[in-house]
Amino acid sequence: MIQYTKDNLIKLLKTQGSEYQTLIDNALAVKKNNIGNKIYLRGLIEYSNCCRKNCLYCGVRSNNTKISRYTLTDDEVYECADLAMQLGYGSLAIQSGERNDKTFTDKIAELVYQIKKRSDNQLGITLSCGEQTEEVYKQWYEAGAHRYLLRIETSKEELYYKIHPRDKVHNFQMRLESLNILQRLNYQVGTGVMIGLPFQTVEDLADDLLFFKQLDIAMVGMGPFIPHPDTPLWIYKDAIPSVEMRMQLTLKMLACLRLLMPKINMVAATANQTLYEDGREQAVLAGANIIMPNLTPNKYREDYLIYPDKACVGDKPMQCSFCLKGRMMNIKHEIVYNQWGDSQAFTEKQQ
Ligand code: SAH
Ligand code: SF4
Repeated sequence: MIQYTKDNLIKLLKTQGSEYQTLIDNALAVKKNNIGNKIYLRGLIEYSNCCRKNCLYCGVRSNNTKISRYTLTDDEVYECADLAMQLGYGSLAIQSGERNDKTFTDKIAELVYQIKKRSDNQLGITLSCGEQTEEVYKQWYEAGAHRYLLRIETSKEELYYKIHPRDKVHNFQMRLESLNILQRLNYQVGTGVMIGLPFQTVEDLADDLLFFKQLDIAMVGMGPFIPHPDTPLWIYKDAIPSVEMRMQLTLKMLACLRLLMPKINMVAATANQTLYEDGREQAVLAGANIIMPNLTPNKYREDYLIYPDKACVGDKPMQCSFCLKGRMMNIKHEIVYNQWGDSQAFTEKQQ
């Protein structure tokens, strides 16, 4: 395999025109050779927008008083799970604002356990519920969750503190430690960054890619930063790369990572589709192989606006499933139903 150095990666992240297209085409070829043209689905449940954190970029941050806070009822969660089964989605992803009280952590364990039971272990479960203690991560794993997504947001500590408050709750080293614990507990661990953040350079992004490689992650979820008017980082909205540039950078990041880590799972983030109508297709053509169609009951979606103008907020799950199938067929990709779609990189490492 080619060895990619920071300098190579910086060059690739700066390509334009025909060289850019070559990069994207190479990534697609590497994906097809290693894991094929298959797309796996994670039905997304945005469980709750109650959050103890105050990240400077996020619409769900605790200081934002403009949204009403919700948490799904148990029945609503089980309805989402049943819907996922009906639609043939092989896995669920439960995402939530971060809470670390026992009521919350026990509830997640119970929901995971019950979903596994009622689906007869047919649904795989990815959790994305922030930083927790080792005990809690262990409890959730034992309840049946086997994948965890926790974005590092940026691997550069200095930048981390420009996009988070500097306090005990937002701690870069703790976030790193959480990723280590998750790996130790044998979760398939995913991380990721936002692309096009204020103060972020191409050098930083190259370091992010090397960080993923060094951590030997099983999956990645990364996407463009989208400024939200009710957050402190909104003031930089004109100081960040344009929509077009952020999209291109995102696609270059995906393509480079596919070259670096041919067999990991890579999400085509919904944030891509917020920037461009066919943003997820573009991500798939740059190397992504996972899509997360939203299953959250429509009445709550307006309150889970991590970033503004999120795509598909009004779509019903059935429409969404149908739409995705067509979209993937158009770009010669095949959606796989009723399978977990584990990270091949992870599976091979286990053997
Ligand atoms: N609370 C959990 C999971 C929900 S937030 C956590 O923080 O890990 C999920 C992701 O949304 C975050 O990791 C962040 O990368 C992304 N996000 C938040 N605000 C965003 C914005 N303005 N633009 C793009 N992505 C954003
Ligand atoms: Fe909370 Fe996650 Fe948003 Fe941070 S990014 S404010 S932890 S929901």
